[in-house]
Amino acid sequence: MSDVISLTAAELGEAIREGRVTSEEATTAYLDRIESVDGEINAFLHVRRETALEQARAVDARRAAGEELGPLAGVPVAHKDVFTTKDMPTTAASKILEGWQPPYDATVTARLREAGLVILGKTNMDEFAMGSSTENSAYKVTRNPWDTDRIPGGSSGGSSAAVAAFEAPLATGTDTGGSIRQPAAVCGLVGAKPTYGGSSRYGMIAFASSLDTPGPFARNVLDAALLHEAFSGHDPRDSTSIDAPVPPVVDAARLGDVEGLRVGVVSELDSDGFQPGVRQRFHETLELLESLGAKIVELSCPSFDAALSAYYLIAPSECSSNLARFDAMRYGLRVGDDGTRSAEEVMSLTRAQGFGPEVKRRIMLGTYALSSGYYDAYYGSAQQVRTLIKRDFDAAFENVDVLVSPTTPTTAFPIGERAEDPMAMYLADLCTIPSNLAGNASLSVPCGLAPEDGLPVGFQIMAPPLADDRTYRVAAAVERALTERDGDLLARSPYAVAR
Ligand code: GLN
Repeated sequence: MSDVISLTAAELGEAIREGRVTSEEATTAYLDRIESVDGEINAFLHVRRETALEQARAVDARRAAGEELGPLAGVPVAHKDVFTTKDMPTTAASKILEGWQPPYDATVTARLREAGLVILGKTNMDEFAMGSSTENSAYKVTRNPWDTDRIPGGSSGGSSAAVAAFEAPLATGTDTGGSIRQPAAVCGLVGAKPTYGGSSRYGMIAFASSLDTPGPFARNVLDAALLHEAFSGHDPRDSTSIDAPVPPVVDAARLGDVEGLRVGVVSELDSDGFQPGVRQRFHETLELLESLGAKIVELSCPSFDAALSAYYLIAPSECSSNLARFDAMRYGLRVGDDGTRSAEEVMSLTRAQGFGPEVKRRIMLGTYALSSGYYDAYYGSAQQVRTLIKRDFDAAFENVDVLVSPTTPTTAFPIGERAEDPMAMYLADLCTIPSNLAGNASLSVPCGLAPEDGLPVGFQIMAPPLADDRTYRVAAAVERALTERDGDLLARSPYAVAR
């Protein structure tokens, strides 16, 4: 069934609609693939074969009954374990939620089901989405299919590894500071962070609520757009959800022309300190866009230099508040409740055992930044920086249609290399964080392999809020031109399934 696995999600959806493949066959092929390779990759935390097959058979039955199916009906998807699922555990890769099975579906989960997508299982991640390598999972270390000694990115590293290892054609992720774009970049995939409020946070376990954004992973631009469209759009259950139509991302992905488009290169995100091969591929891609008729302009967004510092005050502050709900009373783990201890003692023992070191570091940083006497100096200043970043974006978008940069300063780094050095780990998000702070649309598309290590490089495209379609349009142009020139990039990965 490797022929089913080699199809794009769009092709597989079409094959299912036309009756050439059943969803059950496709789902079985992917479940078998997971069984044969996930021991090496560790992308999944939970796989429920029977649950997945039931969903697949339901789609096949709908087709048999003559129902009109949507573009992704019957297509399997890997789902980040940060989204609640009423038929599978949800842990956010934390011990504190071990064994929890939610009583309800997240909006993203519900919309996957409505679109007929088949949820294969839940993917590994950094605990509560805090990290850039998936090494902060309390359960397992996920490996990059391009080189299994390297990280798959994070925090959505289980999702990126699953798609890159052809264990799923599509996956969901969440991006608070880069957790979709960075893993997509280092695994050679397309990953998009929709406009903040463009995809629902309802039932997504909260990390930093003013930044958290669900988004898609795929092996190509059109598939990412189809998944984006399937689960995005207004949700009255999320108070920051935008009541506007989903931007026409699928049409943009099909169009993919950049003639006359003004493309701004952010000088602050094109630093001498970046890996030379990353910069080389980035600049070659700029030339390619120019040859396709785009106008390349260099411009400066000076406040972006303070984005990382502001993020590491705002995100931990929000997390310290959000994670207060894990109090040992309502969900998951409870330690030391033997009738002799007070509720406070049980809570303290549970949190001490249930949270990993990075989560504790964030809670402490955030609690400190929000404490009286420090609030203005830390949290207050960070919010001011956030306003400046928004203004830099606004000013830039008066002169250009999109902004671009490398997605990450380096390619995938070796497992363990940055595990003991939080600052080095945080630097992985240098280029992705400004879009989260401003809330605009942003996407990463592969732009080749770095010459020095043969690993994928990501090209980041940023557009104004609700102009997500522009990021897809540019990405599709890059993808098409690079594929014509160099062939299919992902086919060079050791875990690729040949077409
Ligand atoms: N790596 C960043 C962090 O650790 C971003 C995480 C994310 O986007 N969820 O906070």
